[in-house]
Amino acid sequence: MKIVVASSEAIPFAKTGGLADVASALSKALAEAGHEVSLFLPCYPQSIAKRGLNLDEFECCPEKVTISVGSKEVEASLRKTGFPGSNATVYLVEQPRYFDRPELYHEGGRDYQDNCERFIFFSRAVMAFTEKLNLKPDIIHSNDWQTGLIPALLKIEYQDRPGFEKTAAVYTIHNMAFQGQYWHWDMLLTGIDWKYFNRHQMEFFGQLNLLKTGIVFSQMITTVSPTYAKEIRTEQFGYGLHGVLDSHADRLVGILNGVDTTDWNPEIDPHIAANYSAQTVKEGKPLCKANLQERMGLPQKPDVPLLGAISRMTDQKGFSLILDAAENLLATDVQMVFLGTGDPYHEASFSELARRFPDKVSTLIGFDEILAHQIEAGLDIFLMPSAFEPCGLNQMYSLIYGTVPIVHEVGGLADSVVDASGDNLENGTANGFSFWHFDATVLYRQMRRAIDMYYDQPLWSQLMQNGMTRDWSWKHSAQNYLSVYQQALSFRA
Ligand code: ADP
Repeated sequence: MKIVVASSEAIPFAKTGGLADVASALSKALAEAGHEVSLFLPCYPQSIAKRGLNLDEFECCPEKVTISVGSKEVEASLRKTGFPGSNATVYLVEQPRYFDRPELYHEGGRDYQDNCERFIFFSRAVMAFTEKLNLKPDIIHSNDWQTGLIPALLKIEYQDRPGFEKTAAVYTIHNMAFQGQYWHWDMLLTGIDWKYFNRHQMEFFGQLNLLKTGIVFSQMITTVSPTYAKEIRTEQFGYGLHGVLDSHADRLVGILNGVDTTDWNPEIDPHIAANYSAQTVKEGKPLCKANLQERMGLPQKPDVPLLGAISRMTDQKGFSLILDAAENLLATDVQMVFLGTGDPYHEASFSELARRFPDKVSTLIGFDEILAHQIEAGLDIFLMPSAFEPCGLNQMYSLIYGTVPIVHEVGGLADSVVDASGDNLENGTANGFSFWHFDATVLYRQMRRAIDMYYDQPLWSQLMQNGMTRDWSWKHSAQNYLSVYQQALSFRA
């Protein structure tokens, strides 16, 4: 198949969250399965430089397109590169006025005011370049609100044009909480007729909603775990779009993300103090733990349980619960490490916790991907009590690194973490701890339960082994996406 993937971020070029990992890993896995993959993303020169890459090394394509965004005519140019060891092609859409900025979406806690315009431009540019490069895709796979306009453009403007006669749109929702909602006059920026601004298509409570646009115009909709696919059809998790999703339920599929095991694999990870496998975890992990304790300025105590989290510090990720539960747990012999950025309130609380307990807690406010690897390898217990979690990647990274997760039983956390209770321990599936009531006392009890089990070494080893030996790679997930692509093609036919 010829597949165009459109994403607003992808590693190693730009990343704020899981979407970046998924866009790259899925593209690589599809290419590896023999498909022709073109991944489009905006060219963010500052992010590329910060991430140690040299933009000048990416080939400049001769093709240029001019995009109408409202009354403006904006030029887009293109750079081409790839991933080491992969046949997938990466196209970076250049327009410095929109993308040459210090961050991807917001600065100083405020969204860029022209985000709607920026990503309408990007979505239109993806379509225009797909045509210009004569890619003739079977599938255009777009992701999240930033590229929600693409399925609409395919349906309304492109579907009868040469090269698009058979193209089907697949749309993946990575998080319902971010919908790309803008005031109705931004409809003018889309260049799409006002007749589509109605409650069955692009309008939502008087506003333009780009996530809804992606949902209603695609042949198939996916989201990033089977449980989240069910949850988003309910009022609690659907953020107002549960009715829309429910009415498209026959086209909605949940596929658990895989993990890019070339990046997240303790056997070959270049960032950690010692490489280890399921067979050598007992030797390797203590070295990683000691190294992490040293780096984070904590006393090197091999036998004290080390808990922690790497995350956006937001209410979604359960940081209020972690704070309350940690307060209680710190009366006992434990250590904790936190890495994240997010709500100023959470950043301040966790920095304060580290000041109050300098021998027990270390917090780093920032985005540090190398440290994230070291934390995954060095921790004993990973905390991920998200209020909701479409898929979540860190719990899977933790499982691969022999770090036992404690999670709230929602979304992809429910689909990847199996609680260490009776039957699951006996049948060898248990790999962590999960709880249902979203409450700090319940989290605290799970932490205590985990720590008790941590001191029961044979049982703890079993939990680690169960996590480490399951296949978390993209192989299986990529196959599921290919089935979805086939379904989408059959709907288009
Ligand atoms: P989300 O996309 O909702 O933020 P995910 O768990 O799906 O959550 O993915 C988050 C990704 O971002 C993971 O790869 C995680 O390691 C990474 N990450 C989040 N915060 C940081 C940080 N402060 N430093 C380094 N990596 C981070």
